[in-house]
Amino acid sequence: MKKLILLLLPVGMMLSCQQAKDQNPLLAEWDTPFGTPPFHLIQDEHYVPAYEEAIKQHAAEIEAIVNNPNEPTFENTIVAYDKSGELMGKVGAVFFGLNSAHASDNMQVIARELTPKITAHRNAIRFNQRLFERIKAVYDMRETLNLDVEQMRVVEKIYNDFARNGAALPEEQREQLKNLNERMSMVSLQLNQNLLAENNGFKLILEDEADLAGLPDDVIAGAAEAAASQGHEGKWLFDLSKPSWIPFLQFSERRDLREKIFTAYNMRGNNDNEYDNKALFVELMMLRKQMSQILGYDNYAEYFISEQMAETPENVYNFLNTVWDPALKRAKEERADMQKIINREGGNFKLQSWDWWYYAEKVRADKYNLNEDEIKPYLTLDNVREGIFYVTNKLYGLTYKKRDDIPVYHPEVEAFEVIDNDGTHLAVLFIDPHPRSTKKSGAWCGTYRNGSYKDGEKITPVVTIVLNFSRPVGDKPALLSWDEAETYFHEFGHALHNFFADGHYNRTSRSVPRDYVELPSQIMENWAGEPEVLKVYAKHYQTGEPMPDELIEKMQQSSKFNQGFATVEYVAAALLDMDWHTSEVAEDTDVNKFEKSALDKMGLINEINPRYRTTNFGHIFGGGYAAGYYVYLWAGQLDADAFEAFKETGDLFNPELAAKFRKHCLADNAMGEGMKQYIKFRGKAPSIEPLLRQRGLK
Ligand SMILES: [Zn+2]
Repeated sequence: MKKLILLLLPVGMMLSCQQAKDQNPLLAEWDTPFGTPPFHLIQDEHYVPAYEEAIKQHAAEIEAIVNNPNEPTFENTIVAYDKSGELMGKVGAVFFGLNSAHASDNMQVIARELTPKITAHRNAIRFNQRLFERIKAVYDMRETLNLDVEQMRVVEKIYNDFARNGAALPEEQREQLKNLNERMSMVSLQLNQNLLAENNGFKLILEDEADLAGLPDDVIAGAAEAAASQGHEGKWLFDLSKPSWIPFLQFSERRDLREKIFTAYNMRGNNDNEYDNKALFVELMMLRKQMSQILGYDNYAEYFISEQMAETPENVYNFLNTVWDPALKRAKEERADMQKIINREGGNFKLQSWDWWYYAEKVRADKYNLNEDEIKPYLTLDNVREGIFYVTNKLYGLTYKKRDDIPVYHPEVEAFEVIDNDGTHLAVLFIDPHPRSTKKSGAWCGTYRNGSYKDGEKITPVVTIVLNFSRPVGDKPALLSWDEAETYFHEFGHALHNFFADGHYNRTSRSVPRDYVELPSQIMENWAGEPEVLKVYAKHYQTGEPMPDELIEKMQQSSKFNQGFATVEYVAAALLDMDWHTSEVAEDTDVNKFEKSALDKMGLINEINPRYRTTNFGHIFGGGYAAGYYVYLWAGQLDADAFEAFKETGDLFNPELAAKFRKHCLADNAMGEGMKQYIKFRGKAPSIEPLLRQRGLK
């Protein structure tokens, strides 16, 4: 009898478990085309049970490695560890993908509930000493194992991950690190949630038509629609999303309103209200410093940069300062040009930071006789996408098929099948173009499934590009600014990296240093503005006429326009980030004072703000770009130099070079560190000269 009960119990448990799995789409096989997430079936209440199951499975996989009675080998330890956590990846990609692109209020609550559980689970693995001992055993004998280059790298990377987490430290310090990690992830989450609240919290509602002076018609129409959609019929609404505040600053003749919106943007997280980020940010800096010191580094910058191409904070400071001096010099010339216009117009005031965008437009019209409004009609959302499809077809032979049978999470999202040059399926791509209150600001590329290998078979990736470009207004299609068009090309470059990555191990396949990550994206921006490419995609939305030569010529000439400003506001933020992560910070550190003294030290002029202020510097709230905001410009050096390679051959689509770039720089990152792969493509290390020339700083 007893036996029977014992037998029955597990069967009963399996049944109820099976039922839960059937009901929870996150735990089921996905029978959608190419196994993309069944967004139409996934509900908020599925996340927590799915995560619980995923954590359980992952923990069991790790236990199986640790309890393996056989001696540690490459296969039974490194490969098994590398392949573990598949369900975690599957559930996490959907949850965190949507939590950025389309978050319900409920998801934020769930995120707060899940984050400590996930962190605790990850820490249980990161600090699993028995697991580390097995990994170390393989690492110690790696030279004798006959491993190929890719296998050797995955052993070293995984070993190093554990060492950098303190696995080689005494238990007491490991415990300390564990607590620090848990607290850091909660603080990061809170900083980001505050920022989202501050982004959504500001609204400039205008009631008087006179307040719209100077604004282009499409901006006014967009503001009217925004107002109507929020119950302010007959008024105009501006907010802190890029398509709203940037044109306002560029064109509004109302200095007082420009000041208002610009100040609101800069002060996000710094308003001494419930969403204030100052104390949280200071806490984060202290936590990071403590963590770095336990691990044997002076500060967080040293810890982070030791794994990058740049290697040391000194190299980063040197690099940034090399660009800073010519950029600041150029910015001061730009300032003088603007003050001249103010004086000529009889404006009796000194240029301020909220005036810069407005007078920059005037300089652009003055010097280059070009304004954004001339360009925009040629840059419909669809045109630009077609331009990207054209460039990636010419370079890599890719083609795209729109697929209406692939489920999407919002009606505005489009799904494409990406087909390789030999006709095989390469990837699925989602494009999510427009802003929503459920979406974070900015633009990014992510994955719902990474490309990988399973049992020797290729698993193709599911990639997403999320943007915040203005919607179509009335019967006008969505028209992009030049900046937005470049952003689109940029994010597509990240998507290409995801399409092509072809390593056999998760740890090394798509994993490149942060100061390499933006090479694949930024190089794509170069093609966007080439005359022969513009001729193909930039067609007037009404007449279908390609962009006239004269306009292309003007764009070429003006490409160095305002580059002093653009470089200075960026480098100022990058230096501010470095200063925070190399300095002593204590509980009573005054964020505003610290920031002011950092900016004064670099000699930043009052008329320019750093691109991000401390309390809204989203890039450095999470771990990814902390002490790493410099990486965009570092990669700028790489991309300018790499594009120069194409130009040198006289063929922008040089097939031999494109194949080399795809292979060494996009597909085979598992085979070597960033610089090594770059040199395989270029034949030499990158030079800074093309970057300075490109920006007109030399
Ligand atoms: Zn990027």
